[in-house]
Amino acid sequence: MANDDRPVQCTFFGTTSVFVSDATAGIFTDAFLSRPPLLRVALGRIAPDRGRISQALARGHVERLDGIFVAHSHYDHALDAPEVIRQLGGTLYGSESTLNVGRGAGLGEDSLQRIADGDEHTVGDFGVRVFEGLHSPGNRYPGTIDEPLTTPARASSYRDGGCYSFHIAHPTGSVFIHPSANFVPDKFKGVQADVLYLGIGALGAQPEHFREGYWHHVVEAISPKLIIPVHWDNFMHPLTKKLRPMPAFMDRLTDTKDFLDRKSAEGGWTVRFQDPFETITPFVP
Ligand SMILES: [Zn+2]
Repeated sequence: MANDDRPVQCTFFGTTSVFVSDATAGIFTDAFLSRPPLLRVALGRIAPDRGRISQALARGHVERLDGIFVAHSHYDHALDAPEVIRQLGGTLYGSESTLNVGRGAGLGEDSLQRIADGDEHTVGDFGVRVFEGLHSPGNRYPGTIDEPLTTPARASSYRDGGCYSFHIAHPTGSVFIHPSANFVPDKFKGVQADVLYLGIGALGAQPEHFREGYWHHVVEAISPKLIIPVHWDNFMHPLTKKLRPMPAFMDRLTDTKDFLDRKSAEGGWTVRFQDPFETITPFVP
């Protein structure tokens, strides 16, 4: 049963990491909190930073965790999820590649749940529906992770393993998390959500017709009351500092912002950026 004493809260942690909770359960997407610096990503090996992770979890008041749904197994989504589960408990939900990240970190099979297109998973009063989709254009590390992946590892070892979006339904309202800025035409037809966390990573580098298609097949299909752009921040900067955009050679956030402004003016959509560690209660009038 829904507990009215504790409304659904959504806390943002940068990239596509969002913590959704009520009195019955806590669900993370991705929970990527270490954000290793550029030099280590480019030239070295990366591993979860336990100090940064526990600090971010404390600052975001994440006390109860039931599951982490991982969008795909690139390191900026999957690196930290096993360590967060080690610290707080819960189940790792992901592709076989993501589960191999969990196995490499020492999680037991009872903490791992494979996901597939069309699945429904019940977590407390939440029902999470899984949609398989496409990575944003320019997937640098396609493929799968076929063996348990131990850390430290090269960023290139984190192959995408399949990309997923999540519809998180609650008796009081629903949240859709669409991490990667790409679309399958008509995939979300008939799917509605009150809040849409919309991946805009690399959208600034795409041609206008791509952005229009993205808007049509994702935003207009889901028809949210509130759109919160995600995956726009430079994830090689720590969460202890103010978020900043990806460098210009990778993305052009100003172009995406112009597009978002135009779309919201034309269609009456509400677009709002959420600060890291900021908590919203989207279903409370
Ligand atoms: Zn990716």
